[in-house]
Amino acid sequence: MILGGHLSTKDGFGKLPENATKIGFKTYQFFSKNQMQWKAKPIPEQEANLHRDNIKKFNIQKPAIHASYLLNLGSPEKDKLEKSYEAFVDEIKRAEELGIELLIFHPGAHMGSGEKKALDNIVESMNRAIEETKGFKVNLVVENTAGQGTVVGYSMDHLSFIRDNIEDRSRVGFCIDTCHIYQAGYDISNNFEGVMDEIKSKIGSDYIKAIHLNDSKPPFNKHLDRHEMLGKGTIDRSFFRKIFEVKEFSKIPAFLETPEGEEGYPKDIEFLKSLGLEL
Ligand SMILES: [Zn+2]
Ligand SMILES: [Zn+2]
Repeated sequence: MILGGHLSTKDGFGKLPENATKIGFKTYQFFSKNQMQWKAKPIPEQEANLHRDNIKKFNIQKPAIHASYLLNLGSPEKDKLEKSYEAFVDEIKRAEELGIELLIFHPGAHMGSGEKKALDNIVESMNRAIEETKGFKVNLVVENTAGQGTVVGYSMDHLSFIRDNIEDRSRVGFCIDTCHIYQAGYDISNNFEGVMDEIKSKIGSDYIKAIHLNDSKPPFNKHLDRHEMLGKGTIDRSFFRKIFEVKEFSKIPAFLETPEGEEGYPKDIEFLKSLGLEL
């Protein structure tokens, strides 16, 4: 896997490639707008161009944008769904402008309307967005969830349902968050091979476009989305070596989203090196 981490955009988009390289990353993930607000200022063309140029200059591989947490493409309420859809398309356009090909997003929550209804809404929005942004390079990458509250996307069956119902699958992918999958009841500590086989058979390794590499604060299968620093959480430490050895994942980015953020990444990297990994 290609190691990266979630970075702050405080220095501007153009600085991201350099900031990532300084930490020792070959890639990175970021928010293209405040993740807690609906509206965002357009990206100045000069800033977008600088970002694209620096991706090449610093030889960054497969950087990603994480979409806003406000989106709920599974919402049963028409106006909220439409608002989410518009914000989603805006995220796709911003990614395209910035030269980013992976837009990672949380599928959504059913809010009491039932999982099937939410999954149908998500598929419909994705199909519509792919059509509306025809010719774009951006992949819509659905992230698995921990299964907190009424969110969908915690089970591999949900993800395969989404994949199967997308009309143009050339721009669809999935991101596996290791904390979320463990919280959703997939025991990567004790049944590593079994879980990998399920991912490969239900989603297909070609569709796995990214990993979120996080340890878990709560114990196994609590449906809680709380990340921990690598090696300090409840996931067996050998898991973090094994996942780097999965050959189907060798060319995909793995983004750290651990709680200490940029201050803590050197510790996460140190931990991975202590497992004998060459990063
Ligand atoms: Zn996420
Ligand atoms: Zn999470």
